[in-house]
This record gives sequence, C-alpha cells and structure tokens, in this order.
Amino acid sequence: KSYARGVTILFRNEEESRDFHSAFEQWQNEDVTQGTHLPNGVISDVKSKFDNKIEPSSAKMYFHYYGQLLHQQNMLQDYVRTGTYYAAVIENRADFTGRVVVDVGAGSGILSLFAAQAGAKHVYAVEASEMAEYARKLIAGNPSLGQRITVIKGKVEEVELPEKADILISEPMGTLLVNERMLESYIIARDRFLVPKGKMFPSVGRIHMAPFSDEYLFVEIANKALFWQQQNYYGVDLTALHGSAFQGYFSQPVVDAFDPRLLVSPPMSHVIDFNEAKEEDLYEIDIPLKFVASVGTRVHGLACWFDVLFNGSTVQRWLTSAPGAPTTHWYQIRCVLSQPIYVMAGQEITGRLHMVAHNAQSYTIYLTLSAKMWGPGAEQGGIIQSSSCKLDLKEPYYRMSQPQPYITAQDQQPHQLLQPQDIPIHTDDLEEPKLLQQQLENSGAQLQ
Ligand code: SAH
Repeated sequence: KSYARGVTILFRNEEESRDFHSAFEQWQNEDVTQGTHLPNGVISDVKSKFDNKIEPSSAKMYFHYYGQLLHQQNMLQDYVRTGTYYAAVIENRADFTGRVVVDVGAGSGILSLFAAQAGAKHVYAVEASEMAEYARKLIAGNPSLGQRITVIKGKVEEVELPEKADILISEPMGTLLVNERMLESYIIARDRFLVPKGKMFPSVGRIHMAPFSDEYLFVEIANKALFWQQQNYYGVDLTALHGSAFQGYFSQPVVDAFDPRLLVSPPMSHVIDFNEAKEEDLYEIDIPLKFVASVGTRVHGLACWFDVLFNGSTVQRWLTSAPGAPTTHWYQIRCVLSQPIYVMAGQEITGRLHMVAHNAQSYTIYLTLSAKMWGPGAEQGGIIQSSSCKLDLKEPYYRMSQPQPYITAQDQQPHQLLQPQDIPIHTDDLEEPKLLQQQLENSGAQLQ
C-alpha cells in the first residue's frame, strides 16, 4: 500500500527490456548525474521540488522534530486549533461525505480521522516523517474509520496517489503563517492531487500587521546585550562585541501573547488565496505598510498574527491567532526595531515588510517603519524618521515562559509612554497645535 515505493514497468519487447536493464546497471555502478545520455534517453532532474529548494540538514531536523509524538501532542493539545478543525469538518459534512480526501502532512493522522468521521469515501494521509508509522497505529486502533484511510509515507512533492482528491485538508501554518514553508507543499499538493475546482480546507490565509508600543519589551531586549558592555570580564574587555550582540538580539522575532491594547493603530492584512496562489508567490512576500496612529507614542515595531478560513459549503469558520483571542500555540510575532520611532495621534506610519524565503524552511524579514518627524524642519518638505531591521524568522525569541509584564488597564494608555522630554517640541513648528495640545493635556504634561 505504499504508493511511493513501487513501480511496475511493462516493456513492449525484449530489446526495450535489455536496454532498460543495462541502463539500470550503469546507473547503479556509475555516478550518473542529471543530463547523462543513456542508450534509451537522458537522465532528467531526479530531485523533487522540495529537495531543490530546501537544505538537506534543515529537512532532516524538521522531519525529526515532527517524528516525535511529544510535538504532535503539543499541536493536538492546542484545543483552539484542533477544535476549530474538528468543528469546521463536522459542520461541513457535505464537503466530505462520499469524497476522496488527501491529508497534506498528516502527522498523527488526526485530520484524516476527522475527515473519515465526516463520511469521507477514502482519505490518503501523506506524511513525510517517522510519524507516519504512529499514524498507521492510531488509525489501526480506530478500525471503523481506519478502513477508509491509507497512510502514505513520503513528501507530498514526491509520492504518487492512485486517484485524485475532491478535497484537501491540511494544517500547514507556521508562526507568521508562512514559517516552515509548508504552505508551498500545500500548494504543490493542490497542483498534484486536487481535481479542478476541488476544495481546500483551509482555503485562505491572512497575515495581519499593526505597529505596537511596548517599552518593557524594548528595554528587555536592549538590556540583554548589556553583558557585553563589561570592560573587565576576568580581565577582558568585552565591549568590542556589544554592537554585534545588540544587533543579534534585535534580529530575533519575539513570540508571545501580548495585550491588543499595545497596538498603536488598526491592523492591515495581506491575503493569500490557497486556491489561486502559485508556489513561487511565497518565495518573496513584499507588503507595503500604511497605518494611522490612534495615539501619540513611541512605536517599537510591528506586531503580526494570522488567520485561515475554512470555506465550507454549510458553515464558514475562521481559525485565528489574533492577540486578545484565545491563545494558540502560534501565539503572535513581534518584530522589534532597535530604534523606536515617535508618532503623534492621527499621524501616518508607512513602511514595508519584505520577507524572503531561505533554504532552511523559513524567511529573512526586512522591516522598515517611517513617520514624519515633528519639530524643526518638519514643514520644510518633511524630515522622515525611519527605522529598519533585519530578522530571521527561523531564530525566534520565545518569551512565553517568562512572567508577562503586562501593566494594568489604567497604566496601559500608550500616551503615558510618551515622555515629553524625549521630543524636542517647539510651539511655533506645530502644524496641528490643537492636536498636540490635546495630547499633552491627556498626559498631564506642560509645554515648556
Ligand atoms: N495534520 C497534523 C499535523 C500537522 S503538523 C495535525 O493537524 O495535527 C505538519 C505535518 O506535516 C508534520 O507532521 C510534518 O512532518 C508534515 N509535513 C511537512 N511538510 C511535508 C511534506 N512536504 N510532505 C509530507 N509531510 C510534510
């Protein structure tokens, strides 16, 4: 039953068979590489789409991770995640009953079992890691459903299936939606296995972004590098490495659950339609940013989260990892700028989030946020304060294990983070004196 491993070749005549045999011998004995001419043809690209773009050592660690039950358990115990999948499948039985389903990256096989519960005719559970063996066991332990499920061990980029699917089900989302680059596998699976106009569960993903202000987080990160400011560490001056350490800490996206009141403006979103997107669309994601600050504050970076849609024919359901919503194992991601920028209420914040996929199954993130400076020179063509950072989504800083330093609702008002002495304000430079006056009244500050 392992469609990935067996092929039957029927030769038309003795000569063809001999040619094949000798070519096969040659391939076994020699270093036959791509482009080599054999009596019966040319060796074509034998690497799959996955192998072509992913570093083998990264793939090895990745599938080793998912091969362990404890990590599958971690996902299964995310009840927001698994419960939403369950509800989306069971509420949309009509999309599954009597249908052929492919579970893309089946893991423990849980989504295949849900699909079988919803009446699927047959489910092909494709899983590349050693978890495929456990999935077989779990499925065998549920025989009434299991008889309609076939586990296929291999990558969706490589395995062959005996029939096309009416519907794909998958949980390919990583932090910031795209981490792990599994969405690309989901899209490849669509092109390889799904009938035209077939359904995808989920069918749409959205990345949401908004600038945030979090003085505590900023200070926490900046302080981590203080170690390198010691001039006498066992007689050694460490300061030569302070700059590099500082940059290093700011290149880690912060993963934790934060209070949505830290957001400085309403979020904007970037939509990825899984039914329509091309795999290559995910190699580089470039999002122009434009926000309007709701409060005057120091902006410390960009907060991001995502949601996905189960567009069932009976019920539509979103699975969200938004701040303020029940927490998922994805939490939220924040890209922190080493140079915060100052904004006034009503001020426009522009920028760019540019994400470039790399061969270690993740992304390099380039973030720029800009705002027009207030103060001297602002009217003469606009001095822009701009702050940029480069982060590696593969190296996050998981902050959840630490006590969350969230302050009380009363103290939370972001305008209190604005220290009037931090900004050189000259009353004659103001374009909107009323706005500023209001700000300062709110914060109890006096114009000097
Ligand atoms: N569907 C399960 C597991 C989700 S985690 C659940 O919802 O609980 C994603 C799973 O996809 C992992 O087990 C991982 O090994 C597998 N996977 C990732 N990329 C894959 C690929 N290209 N081909 C096959 N399986 C893949």
